[in-house]
Amino acid sequence: MAYKYFIDCDRCKGCGLCVNVCPKNVLEISDEVNTKGYFPIYQARPEDCVSCATCYRMCPDVAIAITEIVEEMSQQK
Ligand code: SF4
Ligand code: SF4
Repeated sequence: MAYKYFIDCDRCKGCGLCVNVCPKNVLEISDEVNTKGYFPIYQARPEDCVSCATCYRMCPDVAIAITEIVEEMSQQK
């Protein structure tokens, strides 16, 4: 099953909670500020993400979204 991972950078306060709980060490804090003056996270190693949603559950600011990608069934005639 495929998932789409989305970070709303302008909601992120750069608290690092999600960075610390990620079991795959995927996330890092950016060195560029967002519109609110915080340093948001980004997926530094997206290929290692297993879509476990631990970071999503941990974020107090709902800055992370993980959604399932529904793949269209190919229509066979
Ligand atoms: S979904 Fe899991 S593996 Fe992926 S970044 Fe979040 S905590 Fe890490
Ligand atoms: S837990 Fe949320 S607010 Fe904190 S760094 Fe992660 S995404 Fe940003």
